[in-house]
Amino acid sequence: MSKYEVVIIGGGPAGLSAAQVLARGGKRVLLIEKNQRIGPKICAGGLTSQIFSLGLPIELTDRQFFSFNVHCFNKLIEIKDKRLLLATINRSRLGQWMLGQIPGGVEIFTDSNVTEIRETSLLLDNDREILFDYLIGADGSLSLVRKYLNLPIKKILITLQCNIAKKFETLQIFFNPNTIGPGYFWIFPHKDYTSFGVVTDSRAGRVKNLLENFKIWLEKNGINFNEGNLQSHPINFDFKGFHFGNVFLAGDAAGLASGLTGEGISQAILSGREIAQKILDPSYDTPLIKKILRRKTIEETLGMALIFKVLKSKKLTDFFFKKWFLKSW
Ligand SMILES: Cc1cc2nc3c(=O)[nH]c(=O)nc-3n(C[C@H](O)[C@H](O)[C@H](O)COP(=O)(O)OP(=O)(O)OC[C@H]3O[C@@H](n4cnc5c(N)ncnc54)[C@H](O)[C@@H]3O)c2cc1C
Repeated sequence: MSKYEVVIIGGGPAGLSAAQVLARGGKRVLLIEKNQRIGPKICAGGLTSQIFSLGLPIELTDRQFFSFNVHCFNKLIEIKDKRLLLATINRSRLGQWMLGQIPGGVEIFTDSNVTEIRETSLLLDNDREILFDYLIGADGSLSLVRKYLNLPIKKILITLQCNIAKKFETLQIFFNPNTIGPGYFWIFPHKDYTSFGVVTDSRAGRVKNLLENFKIWLEKNGINFNEGNLQSHPINFDFKGFHFGNVFLAGDAAGLASGLTGEGISQAILSGREIAQKILDPSYDTPLIKKILRRKTIEETLGMALIFKVLKSKKLTDFFFKKWFLKSW
């Protein structure tokens, strides 16, 4: 049996950012990741420019966009600015870069699946028991730590994604409430491939025909569905708290992603850092998690109103994206 002050389950952006701050604070930390390699994750890799204020180097990104297209009700609106609006990143590259930012001293187990959680210990798939003072569940939308805490997930986004080995120039999002309800299709160009996908709220009853509608939309955009590998992963956006005694939830495990856009990388990085800071200094008030929650509430309340009211007008769409959505955290 080994004992650590903090054990982190999950080597995504939430777990890696927590490990970095805790290691700098001198804690004895173990990070456990079930995959063999840190980084890969089903994700479109879209970043709103606010993430660069978190210290992410722009050179790490695949593509940068000073303009993008929004399609709604058969209308095309181009959002353009002098400053950077959006970028795309390869998740493997992001994970490996974040791993490299962690100072020495953090132990990392890859290819290790956590199978059971107890009050002050956990079990790995090789039956090894690990003891902890604090546990951080940074284990994504299907979090085992969240299950251990008995927190049900009712608000889930359903996604479908195909990465196609073709270069596209323009980043585009398509709202089509008649077919997919509260969600959107996306085209996110990367360096040597393009992510095509769709996201919708599972509660809106549009999941059954989602695959069919996705295929039709791909065809309209000149893409044969069979060209790419279909992938899918849920996004939990059902926040029910992040601090439960000696257990914390970060990123998607906590449900911090946006229920409107499915964006969750920034929230994962920020919440991992905030939780680590709280472990180092229990009086720390986690102001940035509060900020995430305020923004999340506004976005999720806007929901369909955004699609039906704001996106009908070029002026309001421009205002929404440039003055609010893409402004700094
Ligand atoms: C199709 C799709 C497209 C998306 N597009 C975007 C986008 O464009 N922009 C954006 O900002 N967000 C996007 N997201 C959301 C984004 O991927 C997540 O919000 C983000 O990855 C959350 O980070 P995390 O660290 O909380 O969790 P994750 O990145 O999911 O990391 C969790 C880690 O925990 C590990 N793990 C899980 N269980 C165990 C266990 N029992 N034992 C050990 N390890 C375990 C997993 O292997 C994983 O590596 C998208 C999501 C999907 C599904």
